[in-house]
Amino acid sequence: MKTPKLVKQLFPRRLWDGPAEGKRLYLTFDDGPIPEVTPWVLEELKRYDAKATFFCIGDNIAKHPEVYQKVISDGHSVGNHTFNHLNGWKTPVQEYFQNTEKCRKVMEQHSIVTGKPSEEKALKYNLFRPPYGRIKSRQARALEKLGYKIVMWDIISMDYDSIISAENCYRKVADNAKSGSIIVFHDSLKAEKNLRYALPKILKHFSREGYSFNKLK
Ligand SMILES: [Zn+2]
Repeated sequence: MKTPKLVKQLFPRRLWDGPAEGKRLYLTFDDGPIPEVTPWVLEELKRYDAKATFFCIGDNIAKHPEVYQKVISDGHSVGNHTFNHLNGWKTPVQEYFQNTEKCRKVMEQHSIVTGKPSEEKALKYNLFRPPYGRIKSRQARALEKLGYKIVMWDIISMDYDSIISAENCYRKVADNAKSGSIIVFHDSLKAEKNLRYALPKILKHFSREGYSFNKLK
């Protein structure tokens, strides 16, 4: 599903697309890190020398710090997706803010990669993606004030939707992505079936077309 231009224009401070010079795509993976899916994603990305951005749930980082550290040591970006995957529309501003900060703290706490200080230094913790894409203006303002960059997307694969076929999930991305597109996938159990089908095909298709896969900074 492609985000309509009008929606992007309504919220111009949020990031909807990455830099588009050359042929560049920005894959993002939400809701991990988990041992069942994330390491597989990392292996697929490696095969194509692709870099991506992982919007992590803090609670998953706390449970699987070794998977989180693998994401970092493989050279990808990590972003904040709140500690408990909160729905902004249903959460008071203060609670939303605190839960996001809780996630940032666990990101910092677990980001030390032994023997690779340079990668650790290069990390940024200001990328934030609201779960479900749902965030109130007051929440967004509170986070932006603190230096967070709110990252939305150009294309969402709907990989988590069990009604959508794996081929359809692939086509949604393949038919709509253009240079600069930020694309959403999920390294989650819910999305696993569609993801395992669509991701390798996306990597293969766009690599053949001369695209590179980049992380957000
Ligand atoms: Zn999510």
